[in-house]
Amino acid sequence: MDIGERDHDLRERARKVIPGGLWGHMNVNAFIPGYPQFFARGEGAELWDVDGRRFVDFMCSWGPNILGHHNPAVEDAAARQRSLGDAMNGPGAVLVELAELLVETLPFAEWALFQKNGGDATTACVTIARAGTGRRKILVARGAYHGAVPWCSPSLAGVTTEDRAHLIHYDYNDAESLKAAAEEAKGDLAGIICTAFLHDYGKDQALVDPEFARTAREICTREDAALIVDDVRAGFRLDLRGTWASVGVEADLSAYSKAVANGYALAVVAGNERFRAAARPGQVYTTGSFWYGAVSMAAAVATITTLRDEAAIAHMAAMGQRLRDGLGKLASENGLSVRQTGPAQMPMVLFDDDPDFAVGNAFCLGALKAGAYFHPRHNMFICAAHTPALIDRGLEAAAVGMKAAAQAREHRMAVA
Ligand code: PMP
Repeated sequence: MDIGERDHDLRERARKVIPGGLWGHMNVNAFIPGYPQFFARGEGAELWDVDGRRFVDFMCSWGPNILGHHNPAVEDAAARQRSLGDAMNGPGAVLVELAELLVETLPFAEWALFQKNGGDATTACVTIARAGTGRRKILVARGAYHGAVPWCSPSLAGVTTEDRAHLIHYDYNDAESLKAAAEEAKGDLAGIICTAFLHDYGKDQALVDPEFARTAREICTREDAALIVDDVRAGFRLDLRGTWASVGVEADLSAYSKAVANGYALAVVAGNERFRAAARPGQVYTTGSFWYGAVSMAAAVATITTLRDEAAIAHMAAMGQRLRDGLGKLASENGLSVRQTGPAQMPMVLFDDDPDFAVGNAFCLGALKAGAYFHPRHNMFICAAHTPALIDRGLEAAAVGMKAAAQAREHRMAVA
């Protein structure tokens, strides 16, 4: 798809005043340069780019859009709070209301702290684990993403060896490698951090293996270390009780962000009694200029109660499955084999024999042209505003994308 005129102009201007035109993973040059970079508006599960083109959206703001843009319950709650005050000298009453709601909703949690981004929350979990145990080593899965700060950023630029000292790596879902890492940390183990399931960039997803989760729990209980579940990406989309509730394993500390306030900036650390003291003032110092903002907290209360009262998770699972079934059918009609992995509400679509993602990119660009926004190598997200009609419109666009993917595959075979 040709880049729109307005998008092109904004990119030119951005290139001069923003390094690389845009920081981070939302820079479309990092996945498909032909994608729109700038957006004008969102409504429900649809997006409009700055050139006025409309898309059925399957990225959902990379996770935060869980109830749909402009969900009335969330917007009413946010507007009510905004009319009273947002960033004040201290929090609003809604801080307590939200913490109570989280403690009621997450079975392992006895308390909560609030931040702004997922990386704030995962970093606070690691710091609280170290303060609470008086030890240093953190076990981290190879390739897992926990944020863009020095201890865990995927880039080593500007990062010192000391920033990464005391991390020991294991392989996700591999209990033996986790045990070996724990052995290496012996006597100095502060915690194990695990994403809610395996959702690494460009790879097939895998749900957490219950045996692996139990091993992580056993190690932390035996060593009196913190089991940290990083539920930033999956939280509130798969299970309101926390994603590991489905395998019956309780975290000591868990990080949330993305979907918790339906697009308003908020992150959460939830923890149990064992780590309450370490999270107190006088112990770990946690604060930020905007960490008391009341509007996002009001939005979070409305988001969580709406998710609960409207059985939104089951709806997202059903819509994700409808998409998955349709994509599978379209792929086979076009002689393509796709791997659709992970939970249906967080779709990951990878084509076989596509090491450079040329086939996946062709699929996405073809579908984009026909009005659907897919991602070729990051997991996608379904939201509660996806209706069967919208999924079907997405599938019509996907049909165009699959034809383009089949051509890209033929081209690959011809040059191979
Ligand atoms: N943990 C996980 C599992 C994530 O997916 C992300 C964001 N993609 C983060 C942490 C960091 O969150 P943020 O970008 O909000 O800092």
